[in-house]
Amino acid sequence: MPEGPLYEPDIQTLPREQLLAVQEERLRDSVARAFEIPFWRRKMESAGLGPDDVKTREDLLRVPRTNKDELRASQAEHPPFGDYMRREEAVRVGTTTGTTGTPSLILWTKRDLETEHRAAARMYWRQGVRPGLLVAHSHPLGAYGGGAMMSSSLEAFGCTVLAVGSPATDEHAEQIVKLFDLVRPDMYIMFDAALLRLWEAAERLGLDPQKDLKMRMRAPHPSMQGGTASAGAECFAYMGGACAKFNGAHLCEDLAVVECVDPISGHPVPEGQRGHLVVTTLERDNMMLRYDLEDLVTLDSSLCECGETSARLTWQGRAKDVTRVGNLSLLPIDVWWVLEDFPTLKMPTIEFVIVRSKSDDMLHVRVEGEGVSQDEIKQRLTEKLGIPAKVEVLPRGALGRSGFKPVRVVDEP
Ligand SMILES: [Zn+2]
Repeated sequence: MPEGPLYEPDIQTLPREQLLAVQEERLRDSVARAFEIPFWRRKMESAGLGPDDVKTREDLLRVPRTNKDELRASQAEHPPFGDYMRREEAVRVGTTTGTTGTPSLILWTKRDLETEHRAAARMYWRQGVRPGLLVAHSHPLGAYGGGAMMSSSLEAFGCTVLAVGSPATDEHAEQIVKLFDLVRPDMYIMFDAALLRLWEAAERLGLDPQKDLKMRMRAPHPSMQGGTASAGAECFAYMGGACAKFNGAHLCEDLAVVECVDPISGHPVPEGQRGHLVVTTLERDNMMLRYDLEDLVTLDSSLCECGETSARLTWQGRAKDVTRVGNLSLLPIDVWWVLEDFPTLKMPTIEFVIVRSKSDDMLHVRVEGEGVSQDEIKQRLTEKLGIPAKVEVLPRGALGRSGFKPVRVVDEP
């Protein structure tokens, strides 16, 4: 077991220049192997690229991006797995969540899993997870790949894992809480939405979630979106995690090339600006080359005080959640930062939704809470974001509860 705050200090503190040299060496290997897979071979050849033409990060910009629709199309044309993954040597099949459409299938070889487990171990170690602890997680189970990946990565790390699945209903949440009461996990890993649902279920059962179950409600805060970096179950689930400085998620740059690009040109945007997350995986049999997740992120490669040398990523939101008001392109996190000004709204979490209006050019926000007037919130939103706003304050619980990721943007019917 390592001593100190890092799981793999040799690679995590490698001088940046050397880290990028390791990355480019592995990139050459991934690109050469991609030519053995029909989908990627076509992609490269369509840009006039041969197996030796991508040697550096700069060269990589010549590779066309790939998005989720292309993967779906490949699976439709070459059922069931498509022609961008190899069936040979695969040891696991899973699906994507399907939150953005029909779920796609994912295959992992032993090496693919080992790469994920290695990245996950760095993240768990930073978060204070240690081998031997009994850890409960509530990632969705079933065919969805994310739950199985969380279980296997924690097992590979050496934890005792209790996987309960996502609480689907209040009754289900209560069953899970009863199990927690019996087993008494040392730690819980779950999304805020799941934690909230289980927390409320524990209270209904007369339990004190904190004292009786050792559950901890970390007050969710917009800065937490920088806590972890993921490129999805289909690409690289455990791409990075934040250090104690909590200034973005340190990326595993020895295991992936991560870009933040202009959605139109595909070229990198200046650091600190929002752009599309584009990921090329390394050290995997089923690789992705310049996979565009259509997520908006920011990157920072300045040296972090913690001593880790990798760049840090902050997830800003999904491109499909962009709300345009006037000349502004807003994401839920922009509204969240403003709502943080009102302490009575966060008991225990700020629950809000942006309603994309078809009838006027204003920001519409529905928020749960009390002790604050619609006008106060409206004024603050207008003052801080510089756009007209409409606000509805609703009773707690009115927006519904998701056991997974909360819905923050809906379209006006
Ligand atoms: Zn750091």
